[in-house]
Amino acid sequence: MKRRDKSTESDYAKERQEMVRTQIEARGVKDPLILKAMRIVPRHLFMPEEMRDMAYADRPLPIGQGQTISQPYIVAYMSELLRLRGGEKVLEIGTGLGYQAAVLSCVASFVYTVEYHQELIDKAERIFQSLEYTNILTKRGDGSLGWEEHAPYDGIIATASGPEVPLPLKEQLKTGGRLVMPIGRYRFGQQIVRVTRGSSDNYHLERFLEVSFVPLVGEYGWDSKSDDEF
Ligand code: SAH
Repeated sequence: MKRRDKSTESDYAKERQEMVRTQIEARGVKDPLILKAMRIVPRHLFMPEEMRDMAYADRPLPIGQGQTISQPYIVAYMSELLRLRGGEKVLEIGTGLGYQAAVLSCVASFVYTVEYHQELIDKAERIFQSLEYTNILTKRGDGSLGWEEHAPYDGIIATASGPEVPLPLKEQLKTGGRLVMPIGRYRFGQQIVRVTRGSSDNYHLERFLEVSFVPLVGEYGWDSKSDDEF
């Protein structure tokens, strides 16, 4: 990875503090653990080099393979909905280049993250290594099936939107665990929901912000027919 001189890094750090103040705190995210993580994680290093100067803008940005890095506020908002207190085991579906996973890894004790595109997962792994994130484990695969091997999880987050909450993800939650993801229509018009597992087959669903996310693919995601429907 190309080294930046000190002044440039400190410019990014300033932009990052400003991002947290004006985009995230100003819109009501209060969890001090999440705010601290958003102040620390160098978002500009989780995107293609040519996008870095826009890293702290109030918008999602393209990361290749038709995928995006979510808007900073949405990353903070969804992270807060997980209500992590430290020490949890978390599963993420949709690693992308790894920004959301890095934010969660500052609070949780371990983050497992699954990505469908090999090229993205290879790049994310290189970023995690170069920044010494040692409590994140990645896998290429269909995350709509979860990651059974390490289940159950205290928290699950999906950063791609499905038609509904995939059953395997619900089943891989601990009792009292929370799952946060966007569900709804194929491209535009989805809603972030939170599912809390009460007991073995009792799930409580709450609805939050309206959003637009890239589609979840795979067995419990949208199949190729969805393109025609859209
Ligand atoms: N978490 C990322 C956002 C990535 S965008 C960040 O913080 O920047 C959503 C990602 O979900 C894309 O990279 C896409 O390839 C991935 N994805 C979509 N369906 C998937 C599936 N079934 N399993 C794993 N990853 C999936």
